Amino acid sequence: MRYPQINTPPPGPKAQSLIHRDHAVTSPSYIKEYPLVVDHGEGVWIHDVDGNSYLDFMAGIAVTSTGHAHPKVVKAVQDAAAKFMHICGTDFYYESMVNVCERLAKAVPGMGQCKVFLTNSGTEAVEGAIKLARYHTRRSKIIAFRGAFHGRTMGAITLNSSKPGQKAHFGPLVPEVYHIPYSNPYRCAYNHQKDWCQTQCECGTKLETDWFLSHFAPEEVAAIFVEPIQGEGGYIMPAPKFLQDLRRICDQHKIMLVFDEVQSGAGRTGHLFAAETLGVAPDVLLTAKGIASGMPLGAIVAKTSVMTWARGSHGSTYGGNPVCCAAAVATLDILEPLLPQIRSVGEFFINELKRLQKKHPVIGDVRGVGLMIGAEFVQKDGTPAADYVGKLEQLAFRKGLLLLSCGKSTIRFAPPLVITQDEVKAGLEVLDQCLTELGTP
Ligand code: PLP
Repeated sequence: MRYPQINTPPPGPKAQSLIHRDHAVTSPSYIKEYPLVVDHGEGVWIHDVDGNSYLDFMAGIAVTSTGHAHPKVVKAVQDAAAKFMHICGTDFYYESMVNVCERLAKAVPGMGQCKVFLTNSGTEAVEGAIKLARYHTRRSKIIAFRGAFHGRTMGAITLNSSKPGQKAHFGPLVPEVYHIPYSNPYRCAYNHQKDWCQTQCECGTKLETDWFLSHFAPEEVAAIFVEPIQGEGGYIMPAPKFLQDLRRICDQHKIMLVFDEVQSGAGRTGHLFAAETLGVAPDVLLTAKGIASGMPLGAIVAKTSVMTWARGSHGSTYGGNPVCCAAAVATLDILEPLLPQIRSVGEFFINELKRLQKKHPVIGDVRGVGLMIGAEFVQKDGTPAADYVGKLEQLAFRKGLLLLSCGKSTIRFAPPLVITQDEVKAGLEVLDQCLTELGTP
């Protein structure tokens, strides 16, 4: 079995020198979770500039779906770049753009006939969907969820509700956005027991029994924006009833149901999109991150009946760039046959984490599907162990395992989707060592 190899405690001398140069010239808003300085990658392995090798359990924030430098993606990018790098898909035509849109238009069962608008990022897909929702419905109000994360542009930060720092001092934000509780059976907003909440979740129905009675009429609502599995908010799996209720309410009141699948899409849950995994089809689906293996591409996939905006009402200079489109086609070619493996390795991963949970009670909840897995870390009294998770991330890095937290105290396990059971085992052995070393919080 292959394990991470740390020969020079990171950050080594070359890493330190680059970090020093970086800090002098890059924006202080960058987070920089730990001092990882990448030289190159292959598959699920990252090599730093000092010769250390790391096992990647976070895929550059759920992006490198086909692994680092997959030869087929690299070749597609090289071939496309050698032909032409740009012409502007908003104004002209090329085949790779049509190929990606054709694939995405039929990627989500239950959505029927779709049309696709290509962007450069997730936040731009969100921004475009806000415009589309208002344009199509001629309504202004938008519902989003507590704990949500949708990006960093003005519309997207207005929809966010995961960290106050993402909005502080940037106002005034976009008007008419309202946040309601997200379904979280482990920490129910209405204090219900987990088992009750799993089957009887009220987070959707409260719209009818509370919001539409006392705050605003449903006829004023353009869209509900929801992550079908909450990402930055803590890798939270909602109760199945939650998304079903939202679908029913949106149908009843002609509200647009928008799934932000920027993190949950591109094969991560073991189907191309979580909509399929969870059995609920939205009116609009947003994707980005893993869809082009790390090349900047996002998409608004919308039912043809709702993508009604007029010629010239929305566009982008780079969105759907031919090099990114070529990477996306190669990515989809790799991911589609890989989906059964993603589901089975994901199941193995979750079972192994549950085994670790018995040994380390600091793991309070294990949840997820496919390779979108969260483990929430808790204090003895069940409250979130936020500091502990910070220490765990740092210690794991120094032992060669790349982790990333989300929510208050959750580690998200979002490795490249090509990961094997042996690689999962190797990483979890390192995690086990870290937890033993850190002890109880
Ligand atoms: N939506 C979700 C659910 C995300 O997780 C993210 C990024 O983490 C975004 C939107 C924003 O995507 P990007 O960083 O590509 O703009």
